[in-house]
Amino acid sequence: MKLQRVLQYAQTLLSQAIEKGESAVDATAGNGHDTLFLAELAGESGHVYAFDIQQQAIEATKYRLAEHNINNVSLILDGHENVSKYVQQEIAGAIFNLGYLPGADHEIVTKGNTTITAIGQLLQLLKIGGIIVLVVYHGHEGGKRERDEVLEFVSSLPQKNVHVLRYEFINQKNDPPFIIALEKVKQLPIESE
Ligand code: SAM
Repeated sequence: MKLQRVLQYAQTLLSQAIEKGESAVDATAGNGHDTLFLAELAGESGHVYAFDIQQQAIEATKYRLAEHNINNVSLILDGHENVSKYVQQEIAGAIFNLGYLPGADHEIVTKGNTTITAIGQLLQLLKIGGIIVLVVYHGHEGGKRERDEVLEFVSSLPQKNVHVLRYEFINQKNDPPFIIALEKVKQLPIESE
């Protein structure tokens, strides 16, 4: 298959944005797959901040990182809508996997309003040329509402400041996930947070 699958393309985008020694954010740590990927991109001289509201996710991520001898990650048991409380330095990239944690309570899901708040804060922290990737799962209860709220928000971002991409296979059944990618090209005014 020549067209990259959604999760593969998310990683391609992040690896284009993040260099060794830089910082990045995993906004939805979950089982830590993306946290590990970001930590490897940032390298020992870089840093990753990983957020999740579930202790179970923080523990799973901690375990995965320990298995790979990764020491450059701050695990934060708090919502990504508070990212600016914890991260003050410039970041090169960020990722969200929207939806619920596989194998856990399916009612604990990401929500449009907090996802949008987090995107606003991350856009302020993002370097010029940095990328925020959202993998949008929308098949679950509440998923379509979050999808539509996030799409409305990112579609309204000024194109001179942010390039906004949607990457999606449009003939797959059962609500396949798609990607929204934001590349910052110029600093945004603070009121856009
Ligand atoms: N990327 C993860 C992985 O590699 O396993 C999967 C993430 S899962 C689809 C979504 C995660 O978002 C869940 O673990 C859930 O607890 C978390 N979550 C929900 N609302 C959140 C919020 N406001 N801030 C941070 N994490 C949140």
